[in-house]
Parts: sequence; structure tokens; C-alpha cells
Amino acid sequence: MSFRVATQQLLLAVLLCLGVISPAKAEWDTKAIEGRDYVAVDGMKSFYGFDSVTRAGNTVSLENKKIKVELRIGAQECLMNGVKFVFSYKVEELNGKAWISRIDLAKLVDPVLRPSYIDNAGNFRTVILDAGHGGKDPGATNAIGTEAGYNLMVAERAKKLLETAGYKVVMTRDSNRYLTLQERVDVANRVKDNAIFISIHHNSGGSAARGIETFTLSPVGVAHYGRGFNQSDLQERAGNGHDSANVALATAVHGCLIRRLDKNTFDRGIKRARFSVLTGVQHPSILVECGFMTHPYEARMIHNEAYRNAVVKGIVDAVDRYRKAVSLKAPAKP
Ligand SMILES: [Zn+2]
Repeated sequence: MSFRVATQQLLLAVLLCLGVISPAKAEWDTKAIEGRDYVAVDGMKSFYGFDSVTRAGNTVSLENKKIKVELRIGAQECLMNGVKFVFSYKVEELNGKAWISRIDLAKLVDPVLRPSYIDNAGNFRTVILDAGHGGKDPGATNAIGTEAGYNLMVAERAKKLLETAGYKVVMTRDSNRYLTLQERVDVANRVKDNAIFISIHHNSGGSAARGIETFTLSPVGVAHYGRGFNQSDLQERAGNGHDSANVALATAVHGCLIRRLDKNTFDRGIKRARFSVLTGVQHPSILVECGFMTHPYEARMIHNEAYRNAVVKGIVDAVDRYRKAVSLKAPAKP
């Protein structure tokens, strides 16, 4: 059996085991492109119940009453109901058709489109909030404040609202003190109940860099956004046990923030990384960057309590939205 046939069969077997497809409906066309497994975008139509697949120039859109997915050939960015995701690999074109990498389909698109199929999300009542930096590490700074300070203000306010909503909240820090990244991971992993972990940061970059971005752990075998591949990308980390839940949580937080904030807020997308807190924490985890300390306008916004409250409301909405999405019962498996 050739390697390619074997991988095609493996993909089919995985999808069947997940209850994703019944054998009669399995119409995936798969292909190896540059040594990587790809799946024809056409196959997503019947599988996920889209009414239409249309193409205009390089943009391929799949649509039904509830969701619109927009892919661009040659690009890594994908929009699902207007929320931006950055794929691990480009969408390719071959034989006049669009192809998406198997890893982006299985590890990103699928958990977003069908969060109720995520097995290990569990029912949780505990939220771990990680205010980034602190103490001798102020994080990004500007003339009016420190990132460590703003991160804590957002976390403290989110704690209050989440507790009011009935959640138990664990903070990695509740004062301006220094913690190593490992100490943050240790605080989170001491929580034995089902929980989710949200690390709160504010960004820095060139003076033109702006917007919101959310990071989830890179799947095994994928180089994270903006970096070349290296051997350590093949190593499985603790956080990979929650690959699907991580993406579902990122989708909820990022989508709710974009919805809550001013419509001109720039959406930098949901991206992949192997930050220590994402690799080490044994609960579904994300890291959210709530604006740029180095952008003149965003720096003023971050300093403004109304903006921070909108960020907090976005996070609190997202926790509820995620819990509902992963708690809905998936249809019976065939
Ligand atoms: Zn930071």
C-alpha cells in the first residue's frame, strides 16, 4: 500500500471514528501537495451541510443559513462568519479545484464548525485567568501605563463578572507581583476540576501595528505562524490533548471581542504559537492580546475604562458561549 493511499484511508478512518461522516456520504477527494495531505474544498459542502460553494476570483465561499466560510487560494487567512483564522498552510489550487490541508480541516475548521463533537471539553465551572507579566516584568510599556497593570485590571474585572455569573475563578496572580511562566502553568495545573485557561496580554510592535489577536497552541507537526519549521515542532505538548477545545475557546473569545469592540478594531486573527502557557497548561487554553500599547490610538483606548470593560464583557460572553457550544449534545454517531 502506498503512503498516499494509507494516509487517505487513515483520514477516512479518523473521520468515521469521529462520527463525522457516514460511509455513504464520504466523498472526500484527497491529494498530496508538496508532501502534505490536502482535501478538496468541494467535499466540505455535503459533509458540513453547506447549501452552496461559489468561487469569485481566488475566493471560495461555502454558505448555509447559519455560517459562511470564505477561503482564498494562495492565502492562509480564512473567515468563518466574519472571524479571521490564520491557517497553518496555504489553500492550494490544483486541477481547477481548491484544496485545504488536512491538518487545517481536522484541527481548525472542524472544531469551529462542530464544537459539540469535541470529546474532552467536559463540563466546567472553573475559569483560570492569567494576567500576563507583573512585578519586575512590566511587559510592554508606554508613557501612560504598563501592560502588567492593564492585564491585571482586565483580569480582576473579568473575575468579578464571571463569579457573578456563577463561575469559580482562579487567578495566577492577583497583585503586581512577578511569576515565572512555569509558576503560571503550575497554578493552572493544580486545578484538578475541569477548567479553561485564559491568558490576558496587551501587545507591542511598530507604531502602525494595531488590533486584536488570539493564540492557540500549534498542532503537532506544524510550525507556528511566522516561523520556519524545526524538529521541536514534532514534539507533542501537554496542551495538544485539547487541540480541538483550544480552537473552540479561541473562536469564542476572539469572536466575542471583535463583536464587542468598536467596528473599526482591526482583526489580526486567531493564530498558532507554542508559548509556555499554551504548551504546559493541561486545560483548554488561549492567550489573547487585547490591543497594542505601542499604537498611539490603541494606547489611549487601553487606558480608557470603557474600552477595558468592553474587553471584559467580550471575555465573559465568550466563556458562556464556549460552554454552551461544547455542552450541546452531538447528534448520535452512526
Ligand atoms: Zn504580554
